Amino acid sequence: MTVAVRFAPSPTGFLHVGNARTALIVWLFARKSGGTYLLRLDDTDQERSTETYAQAIERDLAWLDLTWDRKARQSDRADRYDAAIARLKEAGRLYPCYETPEELSLKRKSRLAQGLPPVYDRAALQLDAADRARLEAAGRRPHWRFLLQPGAIEWHDLVRGPVHFDADDLSDPVLIREDGRPLYHVSSVIDDIEFGITHVVRGEDHVANTALHIQMFRALGAEPPVFAHLPLLTDAAGQGLAKRLGSLSLQELREDGLEPMAVASVLAKLGTSDPIEPRRRLEDLVEEFDWTKFSRASPKFDVAEIRRLNVRLIHEMPYEEAARRLAERGLPVVTEPFWAAVRPNLARLDEITDWWQVANGPVAPVRDDPAFAGTAAKLLPPEPWTEDTWKEWTEALKAETGLKGKALFLPLRRILTGLDHGPELKTLLPLIGRDRTLRRLGGETA
Ligand code: GLU
Repeated sequence: MTVAVRFAPSPTGFLHVGNARTALIVWLFARKSGGTYLLRLDDTDQERSTETYAQAIERDLAWLDLTWDRKARQSDRADRYDAAIARLKEAGRLYPCYETPEELSLKRKSRLAQGLPPVYDRAALQLDAADRARLEAAGRRPHWRFLLQPGAIEWHDLVRGPVHFDADDLSDPVLIREDGRPLYHVSSVIDDIEFGITHVVRGEDHVANTALHIQMFRALGAEPPVFAHLPLLTDAAGQGLAKRLGSLSLQELREDGLEPMAVASVLAKLGTSDPIEPRRRLEDLVEEFDWTKFSRASPKFDVAEIRRLNVRLIHEMPYEEAARRLAERGLPVVTEPFWAAVRPNLARLDEITDWWQVANGPVAPVRDDPAFAGTAAKLLPPEPWTEDTWKEWTEALKAETGLKGKALFLPLRRILTGLDHGPELKTLLPLIGRDRTLRRLGGETA
């Protein structure tokens, strides 16, 4: 069997770490099993879906390098849904209901008061043709419910193991709204059938939906796919992430200058038995992917973990990769010695512009003692310069001034870089060059 999976975001908002994690895990599984990855935009909610969000989702997936083999939009597929819905009606699995939301809420409350589960009582099944005609004449439009069959609904979930529902505990789901538009349940199942989806991977907020969907697959003449429900991420206090989505959107992480592989390295491993370590390539994560590593417990997400991994990724980043990433991000593509010198001082790649400026100017020198600066200028060795120049120069200065250690090095650092901290001066000095060093020693912004 060739694996076929899909990631099905609704373009009603930006991708956040929670759904990006689903997108990534679906992708890793597809690549690991040699399967295909469908990006399906669930955009049937016309009021809330926008083209801006659809494009933002594609941009975020591309940033993580999660390429898709196929793409579909539910809004293009209305005729497919109509055809399948007609079949369900013919088979007697859809029935019209006329209750208003207020009536349904009253029914729920009264069942709860009687100690009964708040499931729909199927009163609409008792309506005859005359009742329906009367309701429609009074201006009521029907919504349509799927008639569940009694009995156990079971499946073996790749993350949760055996799952069991009793259809009697579930309400017949509404599949078609009063305005005639199909709802998520039905469009999703029809798409999963028609795109030959073999594995449905999604958040555990969909577990109860899956029980309904399993009956819908069968009613439409299809075997249900395999299911995997991922526990939802929580914050450090164990609360859902939903309230703080803004700060946890992928867009925000990207604009924060974080590396996509730092994000992917965390999201791929949260809630698994693998340690969270920086990975340089998605292929490494593919290799390590295994459903048996996933736990049922809700993993805690902390954005600080991504930042920590980002620092490690950069400190270990080989020059070729750095050059490629710098070019991609429109940052100065520095030379290999420059990269080696500044890499340990970067937490984010874009901070390279600060050190680029230190090397290439302009820098306003901080000259605490002009006489000292004058002596330093006098003793500056001639070019060509190497990494040994710094030692040669500071030994001469030490001999001349009697200064050593911090008392010698900090004033030089402040004059040469305008800062109190930064990359090693022995590597920085040749990058600044003799001419610019002399001008800074002279107090000039250069
Ligand atoms: N559009 C649905 C969601 O974002 C898709 C769920 C599914 O994967 O079936 O929750």
